[in-house]
Amino acid sequence: MKVTVIGGGVAGIQTALALKGLGLKPVIIEKEDTLGGKLRGWHKLFPTMTPVGEVLEPLLRELREQNIPIMASTEVLGIETDGVITSHGKVESRATVVCSGFDLFDATLKEEYGYGIYDNVITSADLERMMNNGKVALVDGTQPRRIAFLHCVGSRDEKVQQRHCSKVCCVTGVKQAIEMRRWFPQSEIYNFYMDIRMFGSGYEEMYRSAQQEHGIQFIRGRISEAAPVPGGKVQIKAEDTLIGRPLKMTVDMLILLIGMTAGCSNSHWAECAGLEQSDSHFMRPLNVFEGNVRSALPNVFYAGTVTAPKTIGESLNEANAVAFRVAEYLKGL
Ligand SMILES: Cc1cc2nc3c(=O)[nH]c(=O)nc-3n(C[C@H](O)[C@H](O)[C@H](O)COP(=O)(O)OP(=O)(O)OC[C@H]3O[C@@H](n4cnc5c(N)ncnc54)[C@H](O)[C@@H]3O)c2cc1C
Ligand code: SF4
Repeated sequence: MKVTVIGGGVAGIQTALALKGLGLKPVIIEKEDTLGGKLRGWHKLFPTMTPVGEVLEPLLRELREQNIPIMASTEVLGIETDGVITSHGKVESRATVVCSGFDLFDATLKEEYGYGIYDNVITSADLERMMNNGKVALVDGTQPRRIAFLHCVGSRDEKVQQRHCSKVCCVTGVKQAIEMRRWFPQSEIYNFYMDIRMFGSGYEEMYRSAQQEHGIQFIRGRISEAAPVPGGKVQIKAEDTLIGRPLKMTVDMLILLIGMTAGCSNSHWAECAGLEQSDSHFMRPLNVFEGNVRSALPNVFYAGTVTAPKTIGESLNEANAVAFRVAEYLKGL
């Protein structure tokens, strides 16, 4: 029986593979021209520092081997009881799995940090891209000697209507700080945080190793503003909340650890199919104690970051879980 999978990120790919393994006929509909979702922009993955290709390529290879149909460059605009409406017409199916993922927080909304205005203020996503391109440097091409990461940009922040914790950015900040130490062994590296949330297996160990083996300094306090200083440097003002003192520091590069926000497609799912969104606009699962994969509609299911910020491992686990739920539903028809 045919099942549409909306989105070809890791969650969508693994959902399609698991559905096929259960004898169903998945079709992946992806709005971009390539599969892989956000992972295509990342360099190495926490907690093992595994290169992205080692995770993504085997999934893509298996998709090809399994001959799973893919409709690329096709956006899903609406969900109906008997299929989905896409930018290229209707696709009929007996069930739909929504794997449309998340969006990155737009750092220009936090004007006080100067993203898009001052040189050498970049986001964590920009840094991953620079590493993938093999060149991490200041705007003038030189190497940064003092680097600061700022946690919680566009997360846990009422002012930009993002109350939730994005969950993966603390460990991403640790991952990237360790990676920057490898690129620039002589540099000073600081992470400014509100709380450190190291929730996963091996994450706390990474955090300790960042401090003890890689000499990364963690300062509890949020940067209140950044301002340009001559020579392309950035002056940051913060309060060290552990010692209760204000602090000024001039850095060569400021990296904003941007949060995961609800995907822009979520409003389509709410409007056209009557599906519910949570306060932070991620899709609300029917019953979190049964897992996140069922929606309020019997033929519509979820997997991955469409319902909340998650890691790759968590997204893959949900993809396997949702396939069993879909098979169970279709058996009962
Ligand atoms: C800076 C950063 C670094 C990270 N590093 C790591 C890491 O090292 N390790 C780790 O475990 N996790 C990491 N993560 C988390 C990881 O990116 C996510 O867990 C993963 O991308 C979730 O996959 P997904 O398939 O749910 O969503 P996505 O990757 O967002 O994929 C969703 C797909 O759906 C498509 N889509 C959306 N709407 C539609 C529509 N209407 N029609 C058709 N297609 C649609 C999109 O184009 C996209 O291809 C990081 C996150 C960030 C922000
Ligand atoms: S994971 Fe860390 S950086 Fe990200 S929002 Fe939560 S506390 Fe802030």
